[in-house]
Amino acid sequence: MMTQSNAIALFGGTFDPIHYGHLRAASEVAEQLGVSDFRMLPAGQPPHRPPTQARARDRVAMLELALAPHADLSVDDREVLREGPSYMVDTLASIREESGDLPLLLCVGQDAANHLDSWHQWRRLPELAHLVIMTRPHSEPSYSEQLAAVFSGCTACAPAQLMDRPAGRICQLEVTRLAISSTHIRQQLASGHDPRFLLPSTVLAYIRKHALYQA
Ligand code: ATP
Repeated sequence: MMTQSNAIALFGGTFDPIHYGHLRAASEVAEQLGVSDFRMLPAGQPPHRPPTQARARDRVAMLELALAPHADLSVDDREVLREGPSYMVDTLASIREESGDLPLLLCVGQDAANHLDSWHQWRRLPELAHLVIMTRPHSEPSYSEQLAAVFSGCTACAPAQLMDRPAGRICQLEVTRLAISSTHIRQQLASGHDPRFLLPSTVLAYIRKHALYQA
């Protein structure tokens, strides 16, 4: 294992709901990069996709339940507290203000990386953070010309090199490929199936208690 580094990893998503695909990827990235401050950022109003099914407060509560036993993983709820759409570029700018020159590591699954050029002011992202792209089943790298051009301007590197500077590098990380998605879990619940073992039992108990994701 790599020695602990002074860097902040940021993993955004709708987490509607959080599942073991997210959690295992987060855990493996934190370990591979030696990061002890790994923050999951639930999106408030996601600008580039349909509204979430569960309310922000429920998505945050489910994340807190999932992360409670894991001190190195935490929830950063600034996007759900902010009025209006959640733009990652604004989130990164606010975290950059608080963190000085620390390396910021923006973690995205391969499917999200492929569509990064649909994000608000996406060209600014490498100025604010490094990009860590995590493998995901059924998602191979597929970039638009513009995205490929910006990615090739960032230096591809091994994990240790991410710690040399605050932002601007790209690192591709292999994580255990778990073919789990929130969509599938929502479908299972809506059709009366049991999604146990795809997500933490504490999260499933919360979903049942609050009757979330029913048809
Ligand atoms: P939905 O099915 O509602 O689109 P999702 O399962 O894709 O949800 P999101 O909250 O949209 O989850 O994803 C947040 C981030 O987590 C994205 O960067 C996505 O690529 C990544 N991610 C989600 N599931 C996995 C997985 N099984 N393995 C690796 N990365 C994942």
